[in-house]
Amino acid sequence: MSEAKKVDWPSWLPIRPELSDLIPYGAPQITGVTALNTNENPFKVPAAVVEKMLLALPKVLENLNRYPDRDAVELRSKLAEYINQSTNSKFTMQNLWAANGSNEILQTLMLACGGRGALGFIPSYSVHPLIAKATGTKWVSGERNSDFELELASALKQVETLKPGLTFITTPNNPTGTCTPLSEIEALAKATLAIDGLLIVDEAYQEFSSELSAATLITKYPNIVVVRTMSKAFAFAGARVGYAIADPAMIQAALVTRLPYHLSSATQALALTALSCADLLLAEVDALIAERIRVAAELEKLGFAVIPSSANFLLFGGFSEEAHKTWKSLVGEGVLIRDVGLAGYLRVTIGLPAENDQFLAAIAAHRP
Ligand SMILES: *Cc1c(COP(=O)(O)O)cnc(C)c1O
Repeated sequence: MSEAKKVDWPSWLPIRPELSDLIPYGAPQITGVTALNTNENPFKVPAAVVEKMLLALPKVLENLNRYPDRDAVELRSKLAEYINQSTNSKFTMQNLWAANGSNEILQTLMLACGGRGALGFIPSYSVHPLIAKATGTKWVSGERNSDFELELASALKQVETLKPGLTFITTPNNPTGTCTPLSEIEALAKATLAIDGLLIVDEAYQEFSSELSAATLITKYPNIVVVRTMSKAFAFAGARVGYAIADPAMIQAALVTRLPYHLSSATQALALTALSCADLLLAEVDALIAERIRVAAELEKLGFAVIPSSANFLLFGGFSEEAHKTWKSLVGEGVLIRDVGLAGYLRVTIGLPAENDQFLAAIAAHRP
């Protein structure tokens, strides 16, 4: 078991003082357990898709002497097509940016536009403040209400007072699973535009939700940046592909701070193949949503409090003892879920039906 610990930096190591307290991001990695802790898609890449990828590889491999397409033109065009289909929009590659996971997208954005600081409403994705710190972006944690819902009036007020260059909204939110309605995103877009700031909408779980994507608002509010990933819905976490949809001016800014040749030829080719099989890969999303509904109902039957989720995971509470004790006991029984550091709550990723059954059997012993 590897767990991140604070490091006692040696004096000869000139680590930036503002980073010396940080610990590496990451959930505990434990082998030999049912892993329901990192919101991965539990379905393996279908054999038909693997076969297509293998067919695409020889051309990529023999050309590895060359740098990749620096601006990932074909991939960005295909990503634009994918988004246009699901949002009824007319984006082109000039509205798209692709990188090694949406985390790299976020880093590129903060490097380019983080000068006036960033605001996010917690609990939310803990990587946002981490990347802020690593890029020298001043981070302010705003608040949600006690049900983890965004309080719009209060959020707007924080934007107006702080005037951050970047305001973050994650919807569906991680770790809560809750959605911010599009009307509230629009209100935030208006407020951030009024202070010449960007609204970064992290839609890592968008495909699991029935809410419209904030990409539908970009033509009206050019300051919206929608950040997406292929890690979750596309069952493609190992390939590391994330992307952003934004006004072309924002994409230009990303071009300035990206590393040259950041996205390998292999990654680009595999992502193109995955996108060409989008229907097949996304078919699994419906199965996961059905399992989410089933697991939530079972947890409620056991007496747990379940936060309504529009993603591929559930945040739930009401244990008979402290949450971390429950987490540890589940690990002992071979089921790894996530302690996200919220008192009284744990997060479970929706897995395959048999994995979910194993989790439900183990958690039943900890019912209130
Ligand atoms: C999982 C997740 C991501 C994905 O990151 P990748 O780098 O694309 O794998 C981004 N944002 C949120 C909120 C997530 O939960």
